[in-house]
Amino acid sequence: MPMRKEILIVEDNEINREMLSEILSVDYRVLGAENGQVALNILKEHKSRFSLILLDVQMPVMDGYIFLDRVKEDAELSLIPVIVMTQSNSEADELAALAHGATDFLSKPYRPQIILHRVAGLIKLRETSAMVNYFQYDRLTGLYSKEFFYQKVREYLLENPDENYCIIASNIDNFKLINDVMGMQEGDFLLKKVAEIIKNMVGNTGFCGRFGADRFLIFQKHTQGMNNCESAELEKLSRSFKNVVIRWGIYEITDRTVSVEQMCDRALLAADIIKNQYHQYFAVYDDSIRSKLLREQAITSEMESALNEGQFKIYLQPKYSLRDKCMCGAEALVRWTHPEWGFMSPAEFIPLFEKNGFIPKLDQYVWEQVCIQLSKWKEEGYPLLPISVNVSRADVYYGNLIENIYELTQKHGVDPIWMHLEITESAYTENPDRIVSTVEELRRLGFIIEMDDFGSGYSSLNMLSQMSLDILKMDMKFIQNEISKPANQSFLSDVISMAHRVNLSVVAEGVETREQMNRLYAAGCDYVQGYFFAKPMSVEEYEMLLRQQEVCFDPERQRSAMHQNCILVADEDAEYREMVKETFGVHYQIVETDSAGEALATINSSGKDRISAVILSAVLPEEGALSVMNTLRHTPDFWNIPVLITIPDNKCAMQLPIAREADDFLCKDHPLFDLQRRVLKMIDAASSQSRECALQMEACHDPLTNLLNRRGLENAVSEMDEADMPIAVCVFDVDNLKRVNDTYGHDMGDQILRSFAEQLCSKTRLRDVKCRYGGDEFVVILKNIGDEETARKKGESICRSFHEWGKEADFSTACSVGIVFCESGEEVSCNLIERADQALYHAKRENKGGCCVWKEV
Ligand code: C2E
Ligand code: CA
Ligand code: CA
Repeated sequence: MPMRKEILIVEDNEINREMLSEILSVDYRVLGAENGQVALNILKEHKSRFSLILLDVQMPVMDGYIFLDRVKEDAELSLIPVIVMTQSNSEADELAALAHGATDFLSKPYRPQIILHRVAGLIKLRETSAMVNYFQYDRLTGLYSKEFFYQKVREYLLENPDENYCIIASNIDNFKLINDVMGMQEGDFLLKKVAEIIKNMVGNTGFCGRFGADRFLIFQKHTQGMNNCESAELEKLSRSFKNVVIRWGIYEITDRTVSVEQMCDRALLAADIIKNQYHQYFAVYDDSIRSKLLREQAITSEMESALNEGQFKIYLQPKYSLRDKCMCGAEALVRWTHPEWGFMSPAEFIPLFEKNGFIPKLDQYVWEQVCIQLSKWKEEGYPLLPISVNVSRADVYYGNLIENIYELTQKHGVDPIWMHLEITESAYTENPDRIVSTVEELRRLGFIIEMDDFGSGYSSLNMLSQMSLDILKMDMKFIQNEISKPANQSFLSDVISMAHRVNLSVVAEGVETREQMNRLYAAGCDYVQGYFFAKPMSVEEYEMLLRQQEVCFDPERQRSAMHQNCILVADEDAEYREMVKETFGVHYQIVETDSAGEALATINSSGKDRISAVILSAVLPEEGALSVMNTLRHTPDFWNIPVLITIPDNKCAMQLPIAREADDFLCKDHPLFDLQRRVLKMIDAASSQSRECALQMEACHDPLTNLLNRRGLENAVSEMDEADMPIAVCVFDVDNLKRVNDTYGHDMGDQILRSFAEQLCSKTRLRDVKCRYGGDEFVVILKNIGDEETARKKGESICRSFHEWGKEADFSTACSVGIVFCESGEEVSCNLIERADQALYHAKRENKGGCCVWKEV
């Protein structure tokens, strides 16, 4: 039996505590604390033990608000959901609780049903969104992520204006090489070890973060003369790994007007400067490091004239639709060809332009070039595809982004729908309010908004539902990282289905291999961009593609896709329906009705995938709520649609049975934002359920052939019973696959495996089990197969048809099969496959392309 979840009740009134404890202890383990201080002590000791906290506001020693503030200061504790118990139905209390970081609130007196419902809902939600954690902490080492580290440093500096601090950055010599030579696992092990050591070294004088692969950052107190002893410590640390050299860069924080990013950059820079230098393990950032900055200065003094002389050119990198298998757009990427320095990649100058303030000017130029191209293509009759341009943080925060970009489109007669704006994820986390209003305006004007580099920072998935946004562009590193994990441990399909749930399409960037493409396809990704398909190219080359390749883009479809999912509100009160519309209208199409019949008709005609949630009035005329609920709960297709029941004010006190049937319920006298949060939570929970299913699908299938994998086979075998008997277990082996791979490349090898899988499917029945067992081995279990002879014939016929297929494709293909026949369920065990393998071995020895049935010897 699984361990029961634990809840902490923080409440000074003993009677109340007892009461709550009694209600909850049916389903949970419950612990009580009589004030905030006691609770905090308990929490500090057992950080991740509790699934939820119930909190009273008024308490002696430490009240609820202070407690909340403390909890939110601790990155780990802040993830535990907190329900605040307020005295009355007072909106002011509730708002205050939320402002202090409470997750939800309940008003006294306690109503057991409601409490249990809320508690269960929040715990479930927390568990599915625990991945937020993932964005704050580096998963490998448990240290802070980059953005979180920045934020923490900012907080510390603000709170301690008189302390001296320094930032220390690491760089491991040739870490990539170590990774390649010793393998990822060893590399990971090394990183974890380093993390552990620096964490111990820092103790409670500071904290640590991990930036890139091998970049660790330390923030700590800096005392006079520390450099010496600190550096001795660092040197010791550097030597403690055999064959691994770690360099350290130290930046003393003397000038607090320097941005935290820049402080870290300087520490990193100092570490980089001594790279590969014998016996020098650390460097303090000082003026000599400025030499590195000289190059930057040179660039800075040239950039204006370069822009005027047309040294900047746009390159275009195509994007493809995975579903329709065609080119559907491109991203504009700038290139600089300097008369003396030659060709420069944006990685060299864009970060500098972001620092020195030139970026808005360059971006403006790039946007205009794109507008000019778009209008030229229209004139010359090219098929039109949208072009994405990059929008920097500076554009959003310091310029007249909206006017500038809109005027450009007007000047060149371009409909904004053809301009996608890629805004980097970090711009969203910096100042959410500013970006939200800007983006909303841009969308109203018709631009399509993509969030660039998603997964590189720590923006939360929860945030997506509140963002005005059309497309999520997943960061290349994030994807590569996720794909390197086994399918069942990867977040990829979670992120994608979460995005789809809130009506976002997903683009993957930096796709370099077929495997990556297949995994992305399996995970439901919509669009791809990357070297596997096409590198960034000159405008002329892109035009050639436009003439040659099949393209697909339909702006109308895109527009309607933006409003694809809907919320159904069935309510007799027109005013209430209007209010729902105002609340959710930005993201959802709202379908409203005042009758159960119409509601059901809508659900039936729209299908489960379009309806994200139903908001149903408990008192819909003629027992309407009941009939809607019944239909939803008795139709498997609709089981997953979440329903929120609304109860009119005058019936709030009653325990309406219908309410318990639903996913959540709410009295109509509750404030608007409550409705909003509840419904979005419900949608999230439903989507995480379907995510789990998708995840399971992914974990049990082989991405190349879509047949079951080993784990899938195990599941299928464990589900078999006497009714399936007798069965034949066939192990197939595709001949000479290695030779094909070596001679014609892996693409051809993949192609052959896929067509073999297709043959298997077409030659067997749906209920037969088909699995890719390993590289070129396939296992088929034929159910109810009659006798041995029939099984052999089936095996032979599959081999024959594969051979025929090869002939048709002008390619010599063959396979061998070993079969074992099994009469009764008692014999079913793993050594059936072993026996079939022996038979296969015989078949192969006799002649390749043969068939052999296992016989007892
Ligand atoms: P980004 O917006 O994330 O652009 C994607 C980068 O990944 C591009 O690098 C692209 O060439 C590269 N890339 C695409 N597919 C693959 C792949 O399969 N593998 C690998 N390894 N890389 C791939 P690029 O062109 O060097 O641009 C670097 C960054 O410079 C861009 O990152 C973007 O942040 C910035 N940038 C480029 N052009 C502009 C611009 O016009 N304005 C602004 N503000 N930033 C720009
Ligand atoms: Ca981009
Ligand atoms: Ca990107």
